[in-house]
Amino acid sequence: MAEQMYPQSAEKNEYRYLDFRWLDEVATGLTAGAEKHPGETWRDIPATEHVVRALRHLSMWMAGDRSDNHIINASMRCMMARAMERVSQVGTGENKSAGEEKPVQRKRKIAAAEKKSKQARVCTECGKAFVSISSRTRYCSLECRKAAQKRAARGYYEQQKAKKKDAKKVIAKKEKGANLDAVVAAASEAEMSYGKFVAARSAKLSRA
Ligand SMILES: [Zn+2]
Repeated sequence: MAEQMYPQSAEKNEYRYLDFRWLDEVATGLTAGAEKHPGETWRDIPATEHVVRALRHLSMWMAGDRSDNHIINASMRCMMARAMERVSQVGTGENKSAGEEKPVQRKRKIAAAEKKSKQARVCTECGKAFVSISSRTRYCSLECRKAAQKRAARGYYEQQKAKKKDAKKVIAKKEKGANLDAVVAAASEAEMSYGKFVAARSAKLSRA
């Protein structure tokens, strides 16, 4: 194994080993082919057919023919042959090891993933992502739910406290207003201006 250059683990398919000029030539050839035969018609041709065409190109190249891009043509045929081989292997043991699956299995998996994604949540308490078992769950765990309930209860208590405080303030204001009203009423009774009345009253009080 090569010495590790960067703090990352090796991939089992390191793309650094690909020859990108070859890959580019293959892509160019495939583009030209797609223009000639649109709709990926090569997928209707069995793997063995692609293999014999690939061999034909390689054989011609071996015979010294350079009138065509035989190696690239063979490369494209090999890709097609492999793709068709993979399709024909669907569901077999060999195929499973290659990470492929039956279309039915794939559909089921997608449906399951979609269902899961619908139930994918972010816990409103701790912010952790989780998959809920029901459509209503908002918390990832019992602890988070309890914590949220506790906080909500505390919030309710504080709200009630604030309400009571506000109510007291309103009453105090009303009382003050009522007192003022009484003073004004008494002043008018005494046929005095409010200012004069208060002055007279405070003089009376200081005398007393
Ligand atoms: Zn949580």
